This record gives sequence, structure tokens and C-alpha cells, in this order.
Amino acid sequence: MTESASYIGRFAPSPTGDLHFGSLIAAVASFLQARCKGGKWLVRIEDIDPPREVDGSADRILLDLKRFGMEPDEPVLHQSSQIKKYRSARQSLIKSNLAFKCSCSRKSLPGSGVYPGTCRRKVRDPSMPLCVRVKTTSKSINFNDGLQGQVQENLNKDCGDFVIWRSDKLPAYQLAVVLDDALQGISEVVRGADLLDSTCRQIYLQQLLNLPTPAYIHLPVATKGGLKLGKRFNSDPVSQLDPVKAISKALEFLGHRPPPGMRFERLWIWAIEHWNIERVPARKTISLDGVGGFQL
Ligand code: GLU
Repeated sequence: MTESASYIGRFAPSPTGDLHFGSLIAAVASFLQARCKGGKWLVRIEDIDPPREVDGSADRILLDLKRFGMEPDEPVLHQSSQIKKYRSARQSLIKSNLAFKCSCSRKSLPGSGVYPGTCRRKVRDPSMPLCVRVKTTSKSINFNDGLQGQVQENLNKDCGDFVIWRSDKLPAYQLAVVLDDALQGISEVVRGADLLDSTCRQIYLQQLLNLPTPAYIHLPVATKGGLKLGKRFNSDPVSQLDPVKAISKALEFLGHRPPPGMRFERLWIWAIEHWNIERVPARKTISLDGVGGFQL
């Protein structure tokens, strides 16, 4: 198999609100990377956090992607259909003594957020709601990010034993994401640099679960007033925007400047012809404050 034939990329939004400019950037970059490698682009709806979900937003995200010209090459995977698989991975980690139940509430932990190992040997208060944490080690985890360069973490020091199953009985993002990236055969993950901190934890879980590690590219995150553009603040949904304008702005943000006046189909042809990940600024954030033309 050639490299291109085996390329599988993905966009994995959580349905916690409508598609906004920040997530459009990840969608456009992951889509173009897959198209340019002659591979597949998949969409996964990460709907395992019902308390944060916004009714109807999964369908609206998919509609917006379609309206913006990005259609997945396989049926959309909803994480809510995969709970059994997450549960069985959790059980196998507990059984192999690689994970343990924990009664510590977030409030009871030190301000640093690094878990001090309180329940590693014995659950401190079994009457409390229990989460499940994976045991970390001080072995360093490294990877070479396609944009941000070399990243290294010592999980013991940087986060300590981290949660793979929440005390409200929901699977944690870190566990679900590695199981589904493996299930879908993802060869390269292209996403925002706000998730750079999670990547070493994900690689560690891949190692414990004998899963392959994809390549990673973390894109700069758009900020306004020092805050990340998010679904919950600081960002309007892109659904109201003209697709040519929105895609052109996303391309510009990603270091590509399409000639003005192109129509929708032509713009995508141009983007696929000219896409080069090396043109994307190798930064963790880019502020949209005062940048002319970014008034979306
Ligand atoms: N579902 C996550 C989000 O919407 C993205 C997960 C990922 O790309 O790994 O922020």
C-alpha cells in the first residue's frame, strides 16, 4: 500500500454548540490534509458528555460542514454508540492493575492539578462517587508534532494519574478518543493546539492498550481578547456566513491566501492545489484582535 492510500484523517467535534470559526479551522485543515494525501477524511461526533451537549448541534455541525463543501468519506461515527467498547477497555485496565477507582473530588486535589496518588492502593472513601484513573509513570513520553515540533512530558510530574472514567459514570475524553482513533484507523490527527497537552496522555494510553500512535499536527488556535474562540464564548456560529467568505478566512488564518473573487467550487480546487501544511504558522495561538479582515 502506498503512503497516500493508507492516509486517514478526521474531524472530531463535540456537539456542545454550533460550528464556529475556531472549529472551522480544524475542519478545513484536516480535510485539506486528507485530500492532498489522496486519503480519506472522516467525521466523528464526540457525544459522550450529555451535560454539555446542545440539542440539535450535532446535526447542525454536519449540515454546516456539507454547506461548506466538506463531506466525510465514510458514515459519521457517533461516540455514544461505542460505550460498550470504552467500558471493556476500562475493565481491562483495572484488571491489569494499570487503573484504579478513586473517590477524590476535584476540590480535594492540590491546586497544581497533579494527582498525588491518594487512592492508588485503596479507595479513600468508597461512599463517594468513584472515577477511574490510569496509573502514570515517570517514563518520558515524546512525539514530534508536525507543526509544533518536539513535545515531551513526564506524566507523573505533569498531571499524575489521570481520569479515564468520570465519577458521573461517563467515559472520559482521553479514553474514548484513543479507542476511536484506533477503530477508525486514523493515521494523522490534525486538531487545535488547545489539545496539545492531552496528546502525551493519549500516546500513553495507546501504549497501555497496544494501539497504534498516529502522527499529530496541532494547529494554532484563534483567540480574541486573549481567550480561545469557543462555542460557549467569544465566537458566533459560522452558519450565517457566506461559505466563500468563511473558507477564505479559514485559509488565510492557515497561511494560505486565495486570490480574491473566486467562486465556491474554484476556491476548493485552488485550496486543494495549493495546500501545504508548512505554510501554516507554527504557533499555538493567533490573536484575531485588530487583524483587518477577520471581522467575520
Ligand atoms: N471533541 C474535541 C473538541 O471538539 C476534539 C477532539 C480531538 O480532535 O481529539 O474539542
